[in-house]
Amino acid sequence: MPIRQLSSSLINQIAAGEVIERPASVVKELVENSLDAGARRIEIELEAGGTRLIRVRDDGTGIAAAELPLAVAAHATSKIASFDDLVHVATLGFRGEALASIASVSRFALTSRPRGSAHALCIEVADGRSTEPHPAQHPEGSSVEVRELFHNVPARRKFLRAERTEFLHIDELVKALALAHPDVAFTLTHDARSQRVLRVASDEAARLARVAALLGDEFAAQCLAVQHTAAGLSLHGWVGLPAAARAQADRQYFYVNGRLVRDRVVSHALRQAYSDVLFHGRHPAYVLFLQLDPASVDVNVHPAKSEVRFREQRLVHDFLFRALHEALADTRAGQGAGHAR
Ligand code: ADP
Ligand code: MG
Repeated sequence: MPIRQLSSSLINQIAAGEVIERPASVVKELVENSLDAGARRIEIELEAGGTRLIRVRDDGTGIAAAELPLAVAAHATSKIASFDDLVHVATLGFRGEALASIASVSRFALTSRPRGSAHALCIEVADGRSTEPHPAQHPEGSSVEVRELFHNVPARRKFLRAERTEFLHIDELVKALALAHPDVAFTLTHDARSQRVLRVASDEAARLARVAALLGDEFAAQCLAVQHTAAGLSLHGWVGLPAAARAQADRQYFYVNGRLVRDRVVSHALRQAYSDVLFHGRHPAYVLFLQLDPASVDVNVHPAKSEVRFREQRLVHDFLFRALHEALADTRAGQGAGHAR
């Protein structure tokens, strides 16, 4: 075959292959966009585990009428403009690919009304073609509707699991996003039945209640609050008491500047901090938020952005170890003496 330039819809489908693995990946991208748009309230509606319909509605800034076609174009973003912006990026998105990717593997509609505007517009994309924006009804904010995900990608469709399983993946993801955004209200509906309603948590007690709603009462009753700041790094959150450790490492939520990540440096530091208070083969539960200068962590490591690279790994490792070691000191002193609160 001769060398040829790929069509933009094929380019988008290839990009979608990297980040849009299942309905939960779509929900992640859409909710992250709503969060980046400063939403205070995010409603997620699903049908058939998200395979038939995913609708995410927010009350965020909205998109200016003239920019609607760009929002669904690949490599178009309002979040960075230069390499320097990328180094300091504080938004969850910055690649400008999600909407174009999702639209290339679904029947897609984006409706938006910018704050302060009297009019909403809707743009639809299907089979690689987008419509002219047309007038629509919508309160201030945006809605994205994704229907029949992977209708044109049989290979991906084949790997979808039962609707219930796909729903559980979405629910898990919504939990993880909601944990990091106590100041945002979330609702999750599946097949017209309400599954989660999370009101804004404005104080520490309400935040712990949200943790309890998401991680269980058992965790909330058996955890320690962590608050530690040093060398420009700040850590806060909750760690499970050793007694509440689990056989599976399934309740570990670690956020770097609001982004849920899996990182070896982090898990190693936490494992070490727990090493002398945990039985072998048990895993601590935790919800921890690390804040640091965006310039000292690279988030552009992988398209899915679930990995990061710390510029000073040793510093971060020692900081985390010290913070946790200190938080767990009492459990160490009182081992067997029932120091659980
Ligand atoms: P990225 O988030 O990486 O910029 P996306 O493809 O996810 O790329 O979105 C493209 C652009 O569309 C965003 O940069 C933003 O300007 C706009 N956008 C997408 N979703 C929303 C939303 N819910 N509210 C406001 N603007 C949005
Ligand atoms: Mg995005």
